[in-house]
Amino acid sequence: MTDETLLDRALQRLETAASHLKIDQDVIEKLKYPRETTKMRLLIRMDDGSRKSFLAWRCRYDDTRGPTKGGIRFHPDATEAEVETLAFWMTFKCAVMNLPYGGGKGAVQVDPRRLSKSELERLSRAYMQAFSRVVGPDRDIPAPDVYTNSMIMGWMADEYSQIVGAVTPAVITGKPIALGGSLGRNDATARGGYYLVRHLADQLRLPAQHRVVIQGFGNAGQFYAQLAAKDGHLVVAASDSSGAIRRADGLDTAAMIAGKAAGQSLVALAAQLGAEVISPEALIATECDLLVPAALEDMIHEGNAASVQAKVVLELANGPVTPDGDKVLESKGVVVLPDILANAGGVTVSYFEWVQNRQGYYWDLEEIHARLLRIVEREGRAVWDIASARGISMRTAAYVHALARLAGAIEAHGTQPFFVS
Ligand code: NAD
Repeated sequence: MTDETLLDRALQRLETAASHLKIDQDVIEKLKYPRETTKMRLLIRMDDGSRKSFLAWRCRYDDTRGPTKGGIRFHPDATEAEVETLAFWMTFKCAVMNLPYGGGKGAVQVDPRRLSKSELERLSRAYMQAFSRVVGPDRDIPAPDVYTNSMIMGWMADEYSQIVGAVTPAVITGKPIALGGSLGRNDATARGGYYLVRHLADQLRLPAQHRVVIQGFGNAGQFYAQLAAKDGHLVVAASDSSGAIRRADGLDTAAMIAGKAAGQSLVALAAQLGAEVISPEALIATECDLLVPAALEDMIHEGNAASVQAKVVLELANGPVTPDGDKVLESKGVVVLPDILANAGGVTVSYFEWVQNRQGYYWDLEEIHARLLRIVEREGRAVWDIASARGISMRTAAYVHALARLAGAIEAHGTQPFFVS
């Protein structure tokens, strides 16, 4: 997959959604390109005294509906096109959930597993030094993504506060609770997806106890497994970057989570779990009701989509199903709950964190869950209704729903679109 194709492919979703709405061409023109992408080289001191440099980006794709919002990814394969594509998705994700944000994203091209903790801290602080003029609580608000976590967000918030000379927790979300993080942020992505599936379970014709397969057993995947198991569903297969495991009677999710926390891979845990080790392709083809891709992009494509046995695919990852994969799944009658709706619980609780930071008043967990539930059910139902009424996929319906809001905001700004520059 070339970089160009990645963003072009994302834009196809925009074109498709636009064909279902009466949209002024000016709206498409505005949403076709990222507004601003900043590229920097971060130079940090390694523990052995040498210096190493890393490429880093921050993209603010569109800020018509509010300050841009989106995670920072640390990954060796990160590219500018990937950052821009993820920022495009964030623009639509925030609009689907009606959060007062535009879309942004950031990345550092690095394998963080090869860094010591102190090197990781220097890299995280260097990122904030480099991008301190791009981000800001009313401008652009980062959050965690693949291979970044609350500890990294805490370092970044601290660095930003030192740079501007004022405690500014609202500059970044996904922080540790001790530094102004929100209760309920850690499992919010999985919980949002879980609430969505539960709300639409009848329409999706899912059995009361369903069999779940999870690809990618990190933050999103582990919390989904925990929530599903707690409600009596069976996690029958799961994978991480080491490989995949399967147990038809259901895996012990608590033991898997404990093993991962102790630094073990799923394959290393297989014997203890009484599970068989299978290939990543066999995981996709496992007999189940619900397939939950929670790893990276492009995992379900033209080459393997035909093997999917699930009735429903819940995209906790961003972009795990390619457009060609989508077509195959649609022809098989598999319903895909699209990323911009399915994994939007994370950004929704990030929004709650930002609101709490700004008002200096913190909610309890019950309140967080109740507010998340209300938004997921409201927007999930709206997307379902659009899909049913127009006879279109849930993905196209989610884009139609988001685009209608974005178009309304762009048109409301009038002839001189409003930008925070
Ligand atoms: P994470 O780093 O915690 O977990 C990623 C997991 O995927 C790891 O277990 C890793 O081993 C596994 N993995 C990597 N390559 C794999 C492969 N080829 N096959 C199977 N597993 C593989 O990341 P995360 O925060 O859970 O994010 C996962 C996905 O969810 C990403 O697409 C991310 O953009 C998306 N997402 C995350 C959040 C969030 O709040 N964490 C919010 C929205 C979307």
